[in-house]
Amino acid sequence: MKIGVLALQGDFREHIAALDSLQVEIEIIAVRHASEIVEIDALVIPGGESTTIAKLARSFGLFASIQDRIASGMPIYGSCAGMILLADRLIDAAKGQETFGGIDMTVRRNAFGRQIDSFEMDIDFAGVVGGTVKGVFIRAPWVDEIGPDVEVLATVMQDGLAHPVAVRQGNLLATSFHPEISGDNRVHRYFVQQVYQNLLVGK
Ligand code: GLN
Repeated sequence: MKIGVLALQGDFREHIAALDSLQVEIEIIAVRHASEIVEIDALVIPGGESTTIAKLARSFGLFASIQDRIASGMPIYGSCAGMILLADRLIDAAKGQETFGGIDMTVRRNAFGRQIDSFEMDIDFAGVVGGTVKGVFIRAPWVDEIGPDVEVLATVMQDGLAHPVAVRQGNLLATSFHPEISGDNRVHRYFVQQVYQNLLVGK
C-alpha cells in the first residue's frame, strides 16, 4: 500500500513522520507530480496555507488528478489547510480561492479569531482509540454547516455552540487541528485503518 503526502507547501514532513511512526507496512511518498497521484492508494493533505497549496496544485498540474481520485473514492485525510481544501464551500475565502472539494460542508477559514490564533485543547474524537486527542489549532478553520452524509467526529465549544472540528464523509477525513505536530499518531492510525478497510472491501 502506498500513501502519498501532498508536498507542495506546509507541514508535509510532519505528516510523513507521523505515518512513519505507525510502523505499519506502508510506503509513504511525498507527492509533487500528477503521475504520483495515479499510483497512490491514499493521500494526506497537510496544514499550511490553503490558497498557496491550491495555486501550486494548479500550476503543477495536480488539481484535476486529485479531483478525479476524490470522485473515484480514494481515501484522503486533510488537516487544517487540508480540511479547507476538501470543503465544497468556504466562508472567508481569499478572492478566487479554489478547493478540491469532496466533503459536503461549509468551512470557515481562520474561524477562531485573532485573539486565539493558536491554542491547544483536549478533544473527544469518535473512532480514535482512547477517545481523547490533543488538538493543536493554528489559525484553524471550523465547519459551519454540513450535508446529510457528513459525520461529525469531534467538536469544540465556542460561545455556547458546538463547532465541528473533525468530520468524515465516506473515505474523506478532515480535521481543523494538526495531529501531525502533537506527537500523538492515533488520528493517523485511524486514517490508515480506514484505508486498509477500503482496500479490503474493494473501493
Ligand atoms: N489559515 C490557513 C489557511 O487558510 C490554515 C492554517 C493551517 O493549516 N494551520 O489556509
